[in-house]
Formats: sequence, C-alpha cells, structure tokens
Amino acid sequence: MTSDSVRLARSEFVSKDPGARVLITGGVHGDEFEPMQAIRELIARFEQDSLQLLRGSLILVPVVNEMAFLRGHRAADDGKDLARTCPGRDDGSVTERTAAALSQLIEESDYYIDLHTGGTEFSVFPLAGYTLHPDQNVLDKQRAMAIAFNLPIVWGTAGNLDGRSLSVARDANVPAIYTEYLGGAPCSDDGIAAYVEGCVNVLMHLYMLKGESPASRVSAIVEDSRTGSGHMQVCHPSPITGYFHPQVSLGDSIEAGQSLGWVSSILGDNVIDVPADRDGIVLVLRTFPRVRKGESVGVVLDGADEYQKEIK
Ligand SMILES: [Zn+2]
Repeated sequence: MTSDSVRLARSEFVSKDPGARVLITGGVHGDEFEPMQAIRELIARFEQDSLQLLRGSLILVPVVNEMAFLRGHRAADDGKDLARTCPGRDDGSVTERTAAALSQLIEESDYYIDLHTGGTEFSVFPLAGYTLHPDQNVLDKQRAMAIAFNLPIVWGTAGNLDGRSLSVARDANVPAIYTEYLGGAPCSDDGIAAYVEGCVNVLMHLYMLKGESPASRVSAIVEDSRTGSGHMQVCHPSPITGYFHPQVSLGDSIEAGQSLGWVSSILGDNVIDVPADRDGIVLVLRTFPRVRKGESVGVVLDGADEYQKEIK
C-alpha cells in the first residue's frame, strides 16, 4: 500500500461463528443516493442489534466514490467513471486509486452486492442484474442472489464488459449482483426500503440472517448473452445535442418504432424523434433533459414477456 492509497469508509460486522464474507457497496457513482442511505440504515440496524449475523462477516460501504459524491456528480474530478476504471491502480488518479481499493475489497469477499440507481440523468426500472458467468456454479449463485433480492426484473447480461466492479468479481469468481432503483436526483423512500429489504433477503438466502423470505415480487427473469447486453449508456443515442422530451414512461410496454421521445435544438427549430429499436419495456429513461449527441436517451428491455411465462 502506498501513502496515496484510498481507504474506503466502511463498517464491518463479524459473527462469532465462521462463514462467508459479504461485501455490500453504494456510491460507486457519486450521484446515486438510495444505496448510500440504505447502507447507512443497515449499519444502524446491525449496530442496534435489530439485525444480528448468524455466521460470517459483512462489510458495508455506503459511499465508495466519496470524491464524486462531494462534487455531486457521477464521477470524481479526474472525469473517470469508477465503473469503467476497475481494477484501477494504487499510484493512479483519485478514481484509479478508489477503484484499486474497491477491487481489493471485492477480491477478499465471498459474495458481493453493488447497489446503484440511474444517477442524476436517468431513472431505471427496479432490477437486480448479474453477468452470465462462464462458471456454471458462480452463475447459479448469482442468479439465485438476484432472485432473492426481490426486485421486479432479474437481468443476466453478457459477461464480457470490463472495468466494472462486477468484472472484478467475475475475474475473482466471487458471486456478485448489482441493482438499480429509479434515480434522477431525488432520493426515493421506497427505493431505500427496497434496498434495505433486498440486502436482508440475500443475507437470509445465504443463511447469515434469520427470517422468512417474503413472497416473490419478481415479474421477469431475462438472460441476454448478446455481446454488449447490459451496456446501457450506448442504447438509443441522441442524434443531436439538445433538450430531451420523453414520450413514454418507465416500465411502459412499447413497440419497435414507437417514439421514446424527441430531442429539440436550442431554438426548437430542429426536433428529431428517437424511435425504439425493439419491442419491450422501458427499462431506463433519461430524466435530465439536457442531452449531448451520442448520449443515451433510454433502454428498452426485450425478452421479458417470454421469461415472464416461464417463471409462472
Ligand atoms: Zn451507478
């Protein structure tokens, strides 16, 4: 460790009985607030003994990317996206050093949950996601964790995206999931509650907490192995820089060709439609009206209908 190494602010709870080591993180992006508050609530509940670990240990990091949080932005002032910078380096920029500290914690864990939202610019339909890991044993554990978390959508995507917290977990064969819940800058009380409950659900699933699993709220399990699936920021790029007016709502079922919204130039003399490129449900929608050319205005999830039938 060099003197420039970042140490992530964390709380750790250890049972007297041995068991797995679980890591839960929020604030990999500095403008995603529900995860930060949910993890603080978990810390308080463990400190007050209203939650007690049966075995193993739990590390809770409410704000991984403190420098980005303090700026009120997705990224710190070196401009690097932490979720594209892992595993980082100890002698690099602030985001690279934060990535190195996070990667080390992930590699030392047996299970990992990374809580996200759409940040200040997007809103995301609540989902638990994972990589389609080449090791069947890891994949089965990830899928079971995502189902146990108990958000409406369970989404397995291509395992070949690098730079992310989940790619560090993938390379270390640590079963890992990430979650998304709305976004857009306000901090949703429902999102905080769903995240606290989801983490508790996964810890019960791992036999680390006592309790009854709630009835399933999962409405669709989609596994999409197409290259690049899960890379939300490249979907439906805006044709121009301007002002985005959505024409759909999050969670709507829509058809290919239907308008996701329009982008207007500054004077409104150039208005261009952004049609959906597939049938499906609106999984992600831009909520921050300013959009730059090439930036995503939304993501449409296809395949949810056929899997919905399968899990009934
Ligand atoms: Zn994020």
